[in-house]
Amino acid sequence: MRVAVAGGGAVGLVAAGDLADRGVDVTLYERDELGSGATGRAAGICYDAFAGKLDAAVADRALARYREWGLLEPCPYVWAARERGDETAIRGQVEEMRAHGRAVERISPAELGDRYPTLRTEGIEAAGIATAAGVLDPDAVVTRLVERARARGVTVEMTAPVSLAEPTTVETSSGKRDFDAVVAAAGPATKPLVADAGVSLALKAYRTQALVTDPFEGALPSFYDATAEFYWRPHGDALLVGGGAHAADPADWDAEADPAFVESILEDVRAATTLDPTADRAWAGLCTATPDRDPLVGRVADGLWVATGWQGHGLMRAPAMGEFVAERVCGTSPRIDAALSDRFDPTRFDGDEQFDPLGDPTADW
Ligand SMILES: Cc1cc2nc3c(=O)[nH]c(=O)nc-3n(C[C@H](O)[C@H](O)[C@H](O)COP(=O)(O)OP(=O)(O)OC[C@H]3O[C@@H](n4cnc5c(N)ncnc54)[C@H](O)[C@@H]3O)c2cc1C
Repeated sequence: MRVAVAGGGAVGLVAAGDLADRGVDVTLYERDELGSGATGRAAGICYDAFAGKLDAAVADRALARYREWGLLEPCPYVWAARERGDETAIRGQVEEMRAHGRAVERISPAELGDRYPTLRTEGIEAAGIATAAGVLDPDAVVTRLVERARARGVTVEMTAPVSLAEPTTVETSSGKRDFDAVVAAAGPATKPLVADAGVSLALKAYRTQALVTDPFEGALPSFYDATAEFYWRPHGDALLVGGGAHAADPADWDAEADPAFVESILEDVRAATTLDPTADRAWAGLCTATPDRDPLVGRVADGLWVATGWQGHGLMRAPAMGEFVAERVCGTSPRIDAALSDRFDPTRFDGDEQFDPLGDPTADW
């Protein structure tokens, strides 16, 4: 079997390696440099704090593989809310996560403050902590995944943008080539790519931003403030802080962070910690969104498969989702749960749905 993978981000690279593991002859095409899409711009937070059974199973598999590949640096993940009534929501989530075997617990604001004196806990109504979480270095992830794919015989073509002449005919500047199957894992560009083959995907893009601070003294966990909608993770002796998401046109967006974002997110960090940080560097990237916030992973036409729509959680899920798409293409049953095939089926939408790519962000925490 000969398969083309379009897109050299984390998902395409895992899928390529896993297809080759199953005896497939794989060519991976990347438009620019490997990891130059969202993967190389990600914050690298990685956790299994999901209340849904299938989401928890996906996260469990992804974390296990990142650990096996030596890429996951342990770091607890705390999510906290500041509004009255949030306590019940967080208690419910933690109970469900624990029922699915996740190492999570509720943590009182007082205990949080004792454990992390740098964190200001006034105003926090409720919090949860996931102790099996960690952080990833996106560059190290790309390097390791490329090595892994090449070691399995994957041919990697860089600066090779593809279009589809037919669902399984790939066109590059060197001409057309037929494959038995094509996997489109091209981030937001997956939509125009499969549109060439007459497929309409319910996929939108949003732009999100991040910065790294100057070094600071003290210890902090990875942290998501569900009320103010921003997050950070320890990054060496500095913090990587992210937020500032808004709908964007994938054909016309700015890869530099907005000065207003930098100013306001540093203010958020000052309010939430005892720190007075400044920004060392800042950037923006594009994430993909779907109407129900679940990804689009599966077959959209004979021989044509897609893997996208991660709603900001694609790096942490790549080892599980790349494997899942490889299993589907090869016709083997999914290792995680057969129910994923229906839930993530990209054809569950018509493709012309109107929706807000950011929806209700609190739906995820
Ligand atoms: C600021 C920021 C912070 C984030 N933080 C996190 C985080 O902490 N944890 C987390 O899990 N996720 C995070 N994400 C989301 C995560 O980065 C993405 O979900 C994930 O990287 C998606 O991987 P991918 O392989 O699907 O897509 P991408 O990494 O976007 O890869 C797609 C690739 O396809 C290539 N391509 C496009 N068109 C073509 C074509 N026609 N032919 C060939 N190649 C093509 C692109 O150049 C690109 O390299 C963050 C994203 C951003 C922007």
